[in-house]
Amino acid sequence: MSELKITGNPTPVVGKEEFYSVNQLLANSIPTKNLDGSKPNPFEYPVEWSVHILENGKWRKTKENDKKGIKVTYKFIQQSLERKGIRILAKRGDQVARLDVKPHKAESPKIDSIEFLDKNGKKPTKPFAYGQTLKARVHCLHMENRRVYATLWEDDAAGAGHNKANEKNKMKTLHGTVKGGIADIDFVLEPDFAKIANAIKAKGDSSEGKTHEYYVTAEILNKKTASKNTNVANPDDKVTKAKPATPPKPAAPKKQTPAQKKGPSKKQKKEKSIGDDVIDWWEGLFKVKPIIVPNPQAPTGNNPLKTGEADKNPKEDKKEGPNCGEKFCIKKGDKSELIREINIRLAGFGGNVPTDEFTDRTEKMIKQFQRDYMKVPETGKVCGNVLKAVDEFCNKWVEKISDYTCLCKNVHSITNKCSGFGKGRYNGEYSSSSKIERYHKYERPGIHRALLWGTSTLRFYLSKQDVYKYLWKTAGYRCWEHNNSVPRTSTNHMGKAVDIQFSKNGITIGGKRESNLPLLRDINDKFYSKYLNAKYQWVNGKNNFSIEPIGLGTNQTYSWIHLDVREFDNEYLDDKYFVKTQEKITNGSISELAKKLGFLNTCMCNSGGNNSDTKPQEDAENDKRIDPKKLKASSKAKLFIKDWEAFKPNLYNDDSEDHHCTIGYGHLVHSGPCNGSEPQEFKNGISKERGLQLFDLRIADFEKAVQRDITVPLYQYEFDALVSFLFNCGENFFVLKKAPKLYKHLLNKEYDDAAKEFLDVTSGGLGGLVKRRKAENNMFLNNIYDSNH
Ligand SMILES: [Zn+2]
Ligand SMILES: [Zn+2]
Repeated sequence: MSELKITGNPTPVVGKEEFYSVNQLLANSIPTKNLDGSKPNPFEYPVEWSVHILENGKWRKTKENDKKGIKVTYKFIQQSLERKGIRILAKRGDQVARLDVKPHKAESPKIDSIEFLDKNGKKPTKPFAYGQTLKARVHCLHMENRRVYATLWEDDAAGAGHNKANEKNKMKTLHGTVKGGIADIDFVLEPDFAKIANAIKAKGDSSEGKTHEYYVTAEILNKKTASKNTNVANPDDKVTKAKPATPPKPAAPKKQTPAQKKGPSKKQKKEKSIGDDVIDWWEGLFKVKPIIVPNPQAPTGNNPLKTGEADKNPKEDKKEGPNCGEKFCIKKGDKSELIREINIRLAGFGGNVPTDEFTDRTEKMIKQFQRDYMKVPETGKVCGNVLKAVDEFCNKWVEKISDYTCLCKNVHSITNKCSGFGKGRYNGEYSSSSKIERYHKYERPGIHRALLWGTSTLRFYLSKQDVYKYLWKTAGYRCWEHNNSVPRTSTNHMGKAVDIQFSKNGITIGGKRESNLPLLRDINDKFYSKYLNAKYQWVNGKNNFSIEPIGLGTNQTYSWIHLDVREFDNEYLDDKYFVKTQEKITNGSISELAKKLGFLNTCMCNSGGNNSDTKPQEDAENDKRIDPKKLKASSKAKLFIKDWEAFKPNLYNDDSEDHHCTIGYGHLVHSGPCNGSEPQEFKNGISKERGLQLFDLRIADFEKAVQRDITVPLYQYEFDALVSFLFNCGENFFVLKKAPKLYKHLLNKEYDDAAKEFLDVTSGGLGGLVKRRKAENNMFLNNIYDSNH
C-alpha cells in the first residue's frame, strides 16, 4: 500500500490561503477503474484534516480547523508565527499523513516600477497631449489586492526622480487596486493642468517651453517610487501655438473626444473625493438626525427636522423660547416620571439609578452633562435646552440592541437557544444560601437601560480622544444555556453587564497578556471611574456601576472591561428597566414626554445656560464682531464643510502630501497612510451615521483651533470660514506659520486683506482647492455659504 502523503507549502505565508492535498489515489491498491468499469469514487475514501499546535511540549488539536476532502485550504494568522510547532494531519481510513509547517511573515510590499501607457494600455508612440488619458501602470511586489496611491506631478526640477522643488506642481492623486502584480491608474491630462504648469516655472526659466514634463509617483509605507518623465505638448507655448499643424485640441470644450467627454464628469467627482463611494450626504444627513424640537408656536405638534430646514438661518432658533429665569426649570427636590427618564438616560454622567426623584446625584449628573456635553455653564437644573440636548445625545449615542443579544446563538452545540435575552427563568432563585444579587439566577427580561446609556456615555467620552478607542462588545447577554455550555455560574450577564474591547493607538488590546493590564486599568481610571463613577471590584458599588477586577486570574478580565449594574438596589432592577428592542432603549423623545407630562413651560424655557449656538451668534450676525471664544461653527458652516468633504465609508489615504489615513467626512484616523493598524470598526467600514458623529466631534477641534489662534473679534460667518479653512488645511495651520500673511492680517484686524489671502492657499492651484478657497473667501466677506462645486 502506498503511503498517504500531504502535498502543500510547509512554509506558508501568513494571511495567504494555501492549498494542501493528499495523493489523489492510492496507485498500487486502488484500481484506476472499478471492476464494473466505472471510475472509483474518491468520496469512498474520505480524507479528514486537522491542525495541531505544540504547547508545553504537547500537541493540542485546534478546534476550528477540521476539514474534509482531497484538497483543502488553510490560512495562517499572525499568531501562528509564535507557535512552537504546527502540524497538519490528514487521515484516510487508518492511514495518517502529517506535515509540519512553519508559517512566515508576508514579505513587505514594494513598488517596483511605474510605466506610462496610453489609454488602451499600449506603449505611447508620440508625446501625450492635454485631454488625453495617461495610464500609469504601477508594478508591485507582494501587494496583491492592496490599494496603491499615485500622484501626477509636473517636473520643473533638474534631473529625473521626485524632487521637493515640484511640491507645488502636484496635479492629482488617484488610486488603483493591485491585480496580478499591477495597478493601472488613469490620469486625464486636464487642460487646467497646463495653466498650472505654465503659472509655476522653475527658477530662471522664462517659460515652460514647448512641452511640459510629467511624472508619476506611487507610494507604499511612506516610500515614494517615481516614474521617468514623459512629455506633454504645451498648448500655451507661443511656438506651439503658431503652428496650426499641431493644434492643442483639449482647450476647446465644445469639440470633445470621447476621452474628454468622460473627463470632466469624472473630474468633478474626483475633486470632491478620490474614491469609489461618493454618496450624496444630504440624503443621509436628514435621515439620521431626527432630533425632535419642541415648537412653542404649536405646542401640541411635534416638529421633527425636515429636509431643508436644517439649513435655515440659525436666527430661527430664537423661537426656542425665552429665558424664564429658571422659574420653570426642574430642580433638586422635584419628583416625576420625567426625572426618572433623565436619571436613566444620563446615568453615565457620574452614575445614577432610575429613581423618579431629583437627587443630589441628579444635580451633579446634570452639571456634568452641561459641562461636558452641552458646553454651557453648569446650573444643575433642567430646562428646555437641557431636554433638547438629552434628545440630541440619545439620538447620537444610542446603543444597538443587536450588540447585546445572547451569546448562545453562536454556540453550535446549544440546541435549546434562547431568543436573545434568556427565557425569564429562576426569578427569586439563588445559587447560594446568601441571597444577594451576585447569586440571583434570574434571567432578566432584556438589558438594563441604565447600563445601555452608561455605555453610550462611555463611548461619548472615549470619542473625545485618540489614544483609546472603543472597538466592540465581547459579551452582552448570556443565558443559562450558555453558562452551562462553558460551564460558568456567574449571573451578571443575564441583563446587567457588558464586556467591551478597546484599542490603544490603533492596536487592539487582545489576548491573555500581562501587558494588557496597565492599559485596561488606565481606561478604567480615565473613563469608567472618572466619568461613570464606576466602582472597581464592586467595592462601594451600592447603586453604582461596577467593574470586574482586571488581572490574569480567574474571574478577572484581561483584554476587556466588564461593566455591570448588579449592585443596584432591587427596586432599580425591576423588570421594567430591562429592554430587548431597539425602540425601548430610548423610549421616545424626552421633550415630548415632558410636554405630555405637562412641563410645557419647562420645554419652552431656555434658561440655565444658553447654548452658545444661539445668543452670541445673533450678536455676531447682527451688529458687532465678538470674541471667537463665544462662537461655534454654525449649522450652515457644518453643511458647507461636509459638502466639500463628501462621505467615504471605508478607510482611505487622503489627498495631502503625506496621505493621511482617513474615513467618513474627512475624519483623520492617524497620520501617514493606512497600514492595517486601524481600529476594526474602521476596517469594517462605517455608516453615514457614524461618519456624522465623527464629523461633529471633529469639528470641535477646529472651533477650538480658531478660538486658540484668532484673538480678534469675528462675525459668525468669518468664524465659520476660518473653521472650514482649518478643517481642510489642518488645525495647526496658523501656528505652523503656513499662511503667515493671512494670519498677520487677521491679527491686525485687516479683515478684507485677510479674506484675499484665502485665495492663495491652494496647494499650487489644485482645481478643487481654488474653488473651495473662493467659497470661503465669499463666506468670510459676504456671509454667503455656497458649497456648489
Ligand atoms: Zn441564550
Ligand atoms: Zn463580563
